[in-house]
Amino acid sequence: MAKLLRKRYGFLPPDGQVDHLIIGAGAVGLAIAERLVRAFPNRSTFVVERRGQVGQETSSRNSEVIHSGIYYPTDSLKTALCIRGRDLLYERCREQGIGFRQTGKLIVATDEGQVPYLRKLYKRSETLKQGGDSPVPLEWLTGEQIRALEPDIGDQVVGGLLSPKTGIVSSHEYMESMEKSITDSEAGEMVLGTRVVRIDRAEPSGGGKRGDGSEDGWIVQTVTEDGSGGEGMRASVLAKSVINAAGLNAHHVLNQVLPESEQLRLYFAKGSYFSYRGPGVQNVQRLIYPCPEENHSLSGLGTHLTMSLSNEIRFGPDVEWLDPPRTEDGEDMPDFWESKLAVSEERLELAVNEVKKFLPSVDASGFSPDYSGIRPKLTPRGGTSVDFSLTLPRPGFISLQGIESPGLTSSLAIAERVEEMVRKQVWGLGRGTGKTISEAGRLEAWA
Ligand SMILES: Cc1cc2nc3c(=O)[nH]c(=O)nc-3n(C[C@H](O)[C@H](O)[C@H](O)COP(=O)(O)OP(=O)(O)OC[C@H]3O[C@@H](n4cnc5c(N)ncnc54)[C@H](O)[C@@H]3O)c2cc1C
Repeated sequence: MAKLLRKRYGFLPPDGQVDHLIIGAGAVGLAIAERLVRAFPNRSTFVVERRGQVGQETSSRNSEVIHSGIYYPTDSLKTALCIRGRDLLYERCREQGIGFRQTGKLIVATDEGQVPYLRKLYKRSETLKQGGDSPVPLEWLTGEQIRALEPDIGDQVVGGLLSPKTGIVSSHEYMESMEKSITDSEAGEMVLGTRVVRIDRAEPSGGGKRGDGSEDGWIVQTVTEDGSGGEGMRASVLAKSVINAAGLNAHHVLNQVLPESEQLRLYFAKGSYFSYRGPGVQNVQRLIYPCPEENHSLSGLGTHLTMSLSNEIRFGPDVEWLDPPRTEDGEDMPDFWESKLAVSEERLELAVNEVKKFLPSVDASGFSPDYSGIRPKLTPRGGTSVDFSLTLPRPGFISLQGIESPGLTSSLAIAERVEEMVRKQVWGLGRGTGKTISEAGRLEAWA
């Protein structure tokens, strides 16, 4: 894709300059932009998004669950950012009237063989304790205790975990709130319907080091659709720093700045959802998850019950690996997944069987194919799940890849991390050394 684009779009000298250019207005790109706009009110921040609206890809094709941080290694970024992001997200929802509900969640074992894994998750949450309560509180319940809380759950459930900190959120209201605060700010600008097609390194004109006012940075070329169905309008801007938050397209963006030997590959795992209307769920109050299969290496958390804020029940997402067709250059075909979003009827039967293991009275006729989302994976089918990847592969170029679940929950915390990277590694300010009055003020506020 990178090669293809470079052939198609020749170099175009920049005709403007921006301090921070974020590629992608999903939940993560928006959270980063909002954070940078607040932290650096005297520097310009652009968010460039290829769709006509924000959050049209993975950020609106997920379970909308505020995860509590249960499943990942204690020292992982996923655990740290999920816990921090969860707390920030609940706080924001309360303060800004964004739709959410702290439903709580059950993870249930449908046979004794699953109990040790759930016990392991419980122990792990205990090890997160620093003095007081665990930041990921869990309670072990017997099958009877679970049925007392959720009478629709079947007798085959032998026990499980109750997670009181799990909830649901309106991802659209959340993203709208961030978009508004960026557009309302002096320093931020949303550039919608505009695709980044080429990135070139800009060398320092005076041989100076980064952040000293020399013209180093990245020349980012974009194409804006003009509605005529043609090629669109090309533009080029000098960005002092670039933040790649392009989700399923992150590898194609990153590979623009990397040599052949360092090119990144992503893998894609589709998750399909089924809406449900029928018997067997009348009393459900909480989200209900199965015990994840250990041999699935956490490629998904298992087909679970989730609900919308208006109490519509959904089951999903399952895990279906997709194989991208390859281009002549041996790269995967860009955006191939767009033609794979329909939910196939064939997966329905599999979903019904999975759900019946813990909600035995559901009826197959109540399931309807709904929507799907695609997970951007850093490891292929069968590979061990890996952590979020937040990197600085080249000076002034921050790149986020593999931001799968719990990325929505973690988005505000990812933004904090990226602000720290921008502050230290792009502007060389270092925490607490604030070089301008406004930034020093901000630093104290967050210390
Ligand atoms: C099935 C499924 C269920 C999930 N459930 C949950 C959940 O319940 N809770 C949770 O916390 N997380 C969940 N997640 C994860 C969560 O949805 C993602 O981690 C999060 O939405 C990622 O946001 P993002 O901004 O990184 O990516 P995206 O939302 O994909 O945004 C990337 C943006 O970049 C834009 N873009 C790409 N290329 C370019 C370019 N060249 N130029 C300009 N713009 C470009 C795209 O148009 C897109 O808008 C789930 C994910 C899936 C797939």
